[in-house]
Amino acid sequence: MADRPDTHLPPPHASHTCHLSGDQVRQLSDDIEERLHANGMRVTTALRDLIDVLLHQHRPFTLQQLQHMPRLAERDPATIYRLVMKLRDLGVLRYFPIGDSGNYFQLDTPDHHHDYLVCTECGTLTDVPFPCVVQQLETQLAEQLKWKKLSHSLVFQGICPDCAQ
Ligand SMILES: [Zn+2]
Ligand SMILES: [Zn+2]
Ligand SMILES: [Zn+2]
Repeated sequence: MADRPDTHLPPPHASHTCHLSGDQVRQLSDDIEERLHANGMRVTTALRDLIDVLLHQHRPFTLQQLQHMPRLAERDPATIYRLVMKLRDLGVLRYFPIGDSGNYFQLDTPDHHHDYLVCTECGTLTDVPFPCVVQQLETQLAEQLKWKKLSHSLVFQGICPDCAQ
């Protein structure tokens, strides 16, 4: 594989992998397919592979990480880039801009919530291991201000224990 041109590449891992249940995966998969069809998007094998990776490894990925995943690595990186951007535009992917350490993408899972910690030194992304206190506020906003389909993305940035040493 050719050397990666980017000098501030994010690390090759996120520290937590969450698994969706079979039911959640099927439900999500149906929802995504429906949304793609509604937008006239053809489900090519490249797109199918990309969605499968995102469905079966439920965590945020950087574009570079996705381009190096099994099944996706043999594809043209430009194709993966284009598909990721399209899925982001359709709201199928959540998008976390993390400054210099890269941008992360994750399947949007409306009923399944995560918040994250990102290290600004090494770029490692970690699950917040506590219940989300913002969800209570979200419920309150929905009830009292009558907003529908509320969601939030919470990404804490700081220096991880490894880098702080
Ligand atoms: Zn999860
Ligand atoms: Zn770090
Ligand atoms: Zn949250």
